[in-house]
Amino acid sequence: GAYVSLSQVSKTYASSRGPIPALVDINLDIRPHEFISVVGPSGCGKSTLLKLVAGLEGVSAGSVRVAGRQLDGPPDRLGAVFQRDVLLDWRTILDNVLLSIEFTRKPTPAERDRAMALLKRFGLAGFEDRFPFELSGGMRQRASICRALLADPELLLMDEPFGALDAMTRDDLNVELAQIWQDTRKTLLFITHSIVEAVFLSDRVVMMSKAPGKIVDTITIDLPRPRR
Ligand code: ADP
Ligand code: ADP
Repeated sequence: GAYVSLSQVSKTYASSRGPIPALVDINLDIRPHEFISVVGPSGCGKSTLLKLVAGLEGVSAGSVRVAGRQLDGPPDRLGAVFQRDVLLDWRTILDNVLLSIEFTRKPTPAERDRAMALLKRFGLAGFEDRFPFELSGGMRQRASICRALLADPELLLMDEPFGALDAMTRDDLNVELAQIWQDTRKTLLFITHSIVEAVFLSDRVVMMSKAPGKIVDTITIDLPRPRR
């Protein structure tokens, strides 16, 4: 069965100038361990789709199910990375990564070790005691990914995670992301406005159009994966 299932989902935002339809009649099943990209022009509802799956917004109609359960808030085993990193300036990189556990309880020594191992895996060994402002944009997004992975989520959501970075850093991080996905096989919903990026990275590409946002095509990608 599907790990994430959107069925006849519509989303309309209320605003002072009246209702704004953002998504209509979205049907999408994401299989366990699938890497799926969503592409489309600005304003077509990509972020809204991700927020619905993250349980950060509620649907106006239809249903979103994750791991067989209808969502009524953020799903349990979720990691998310957004375009702007959400690192806290006053915490070190290690303490930022540990936040994903600390929201609920004190991290164990084993979890601290795991955080250190993740930082090393992402080329951030030696930076654990630095503060976010001391790191480049690419390094901060790497730390954000470490944070998303620390709690070992079943589902990863990424909303243009490298969109604010320069082209070269972005290419590097896309290659790293492909490797991480091969290592971890997290179910991954990835939002981008780059069709090239989507085809390079994912198993399936969902194409959206706007006014209001709907799915216009879904393409299965059957290409050899980039390898280390
Ligand atoms: P994308 O991520 O593809 O750029 P969004 O999901 O951000 O698209 O936006 C889809 C539509 O919904 C746009 O018309 C946008 O203006 C509108 N929208 C998004 N968030 C809100 C909100 N909080 N309130 C009102 N309208 C919103
Ligand atoms: P990225 O591609 O991750 O954005 P940069 O291209 O800015 O990183 O930097 C390349 C390398 O330079 C980094 O992987 C890191 O080893 C080092 N570096 C970058 N910023 C800093 C910093 N503020 N302090 C120390 N080393 C840094």
